[in-house]
Amino acid sequence: MQRVILLGRTQEELGELLTEMGEPSYRAQQVMQWIYQHRENDFSRMTNLPSALRHRLRETSRVNDLQIVDSSEDGDSTEKIALQLSDGEIIESVLIRRRYGNSVCLSTQVGCPIGCPLCASGMDGFTRDLTAAEITGQWFEIQRRLDPGSERISHVVFMGSGEPLLNYSNTLRAVRLLGGEDGAGISYRRITLSTVGLVPEMKRLAREDLPVTLAVSLHAPNDYLRDRLVPINEKYPLEVLIPACKEYAEGTGRRVSFEYAMIEQVNDYPELARELAILLADVKCHINLIPLNPVPGSDYSASSEDALTRFYRILTDLGLNATVRRSSGLDIDAGCGQLRRRITARERDST
Ligand code: SF4
Repeated sequence: MQRVILLGRTQEELGELLTEMGEPSYRAQQVMQWIYQHRENDFSRMTNLPSALRHRLRETSRVNDLQIVDSSEDGDSTEKIALQLSDGEIIESVLIRRRYGNSVCLSTQVGCPIGCPLCASGMDGFTRDLTAAEITGQWFEIQRRLDPGSERISHVVFMGSGEPLLNYSNTLRAVRLLGGEDGAGISYRRITLSTVGLVPEMKRLAREDLPVTLAVSLHAPNDYLRDRLVPINEKYPLEVLIPACKEYAEGTGRRVSFEYAMIEQVNDYPELARELAILLADVKCHINLIPLNPVPGSDYSASSEDALTRFYRILTDLGLNATVRRSSGLDIDAGCGQLRRRITARERDST
């Protein structure tokens, strides 16, 4: 029998499900608390529910339907985690432990249809969107691995495989479950949604009245270069993308975060830093300069330290907010999509 998955459902929807089982709808709040506050997946331990209901839930439902199948650590702060979905597909998430809290990076699709040449996720094409249960399920399983007393996930970034805004409704549902008071209660301000620049969905997101951070993968200051690095740019070029970013910042009061992967002798020249400063001069934003995490088989490599420092200095001297962010876990396949590629290749080899 196909079991009902409880993660990914709103409190109201859980209430309807429980009402169909003959229970009062207030039981939904209790079940939500067990799932999101206590991360409990065993109905028999949900002790404030009547035993007949616990039994019924055990017969008909499951809290989550994901299973951790592999992980790799870099020894201190970053852990890449592969999870298997009920149809056998593999997705990946990253746990990053920082001084200010634990951050998880979640996937929103199996593979990705966008096909950016800098990224492993797009290389094997696109399989399917994740459901809201599968997106929140990654948070659930990782939070369960942490010490329940002291290690709470405080930040969530949607930067794993997939373009979150292409799977808009499931991603937004997951955001509301992770950020909402009924759910995990993570501050919306500590939730970041990334995009390569899907302008209509960015405008839609600006109207959602959610103070989440929008991170735009920019990687180039002009269309000529960006068309090469981020193919969706041909559809939404900078002349429409940048005004949409401004609109988002003005509408939400949140700075837009621009991600700029620093690629040796491609987008790291001083004149491109000056061009970038002009492009973003009147956008309320922050720029993250990230040395490229090279994808196996790709011709692109990370910028040198000198090029990185020079680029950063030009931006900050011209008055922009910028940070150099080291990409965690180069040595543990922690680039977007790389652990999944390794596991699926291993499975192919063993058949
Ligand atoms: S960078 Fe993002 S949008 Fe581009 S292929 Fe990778 S997952 Fe997809």
